[in-house]
Amino acid sequence: MFEVRCCLMLLVYYGKGKGKTTAAIGTAIRALGRGWRVLIAQFMKVWETGERNFVKELVKRCDQLKGRVVWINFGTKEFINPNDLGGEVFSMNVAYAYGFLKYVLPELLRDFRPDLVVLDELGVAVHLNVVDESTAISSARRFSGSTKPPHAIITGRYVPRPLREVADLVTKVDEEKHYFRVVGEALEGLDL
Ligand code: ATP
Ligand code: MG
Repeated sequence: MFEVRCCLMLLVYYGKGKGKTTAAIGTAIRALGRGWRVLIAQFMKVWETGERNFVKELVKRCDQLKGRVVWINFGTKEFINPNDLGGEVFSMNVAYAYGFLKYVLPELLRDFRPDLVVLDELGVAVHLNVVDESTAISSARRFSGSTKPPHAIITGRYVPRPLREVADLVTKVDEEKHYFRVVGEALEGLDL
C-alpha cells in the first residue's frame, strides 16, 4: 500500500482548545494499525503520559509493532517562563530542540524511514523562539527530500502562519469550555 504513496501531507492541529495532541497520537495509532512506521517527537514535554505508557506497553507485547515506533521526548522538566526568554530553562530547551532537528531527525529519516512523523508542540516551540521559524519550515520541507517521504503532523496551541501556509491540512481547535479553568491542573487519564 505505501509503495504507491509518494507525496508528503503536512497536517497541522493548532488553537486554544483541547485535543491537538490527542488527535495527533490518534492518527499515529491509526497509521500503526495500517502497518506504518511512526516517529513521535514531543518538544518541551518530558513527563510521563498515559498515551506513551500505552504505546510502550503495546509494543512490548505485540511483535508486529516492534521496530515500527520511535517515541522521543525532550526538553526541561521546568516550564519556560515567557518573561525569561534567554534564561537557563529556555536555553536548555533551545539546545534540545536544535540537537533533535539538526542531528537526530535527519538520521531517523534516513535510518528508521518513518511513514508518519509527529512533531508534537513544535508550534509552541516556534512561538516561544525555542526553534526558529525557518528551521521549522525547512525541517518540515526536508521530509520531501527523503527517499520515501513521510507524512507529518505538527501540533501546538500556537502554530505560526508560515508553517500553516505550507501545510496541506490545518485544523483549528477552539475552546468553548474547559474544566481546567475550575480545576486548575491537568488531570491524569484525561490530559496526561
Ligand atoms: P491534549 O493533549 O489533551 O490533546 P492539547 O494538545 O490540545 O490537549 P495543549 O495546549 O498541548 O493541549 O495542552 C496540554 C494539556 O494541558 C491539555 O491536556 C490541557 O487540558 C491542559 N491545559 C493546561 N492548561 C490549560 C489551559 N489554560 N487551557 C486549556 N488547557 C490547558
Ligand atoms: Mg498538546
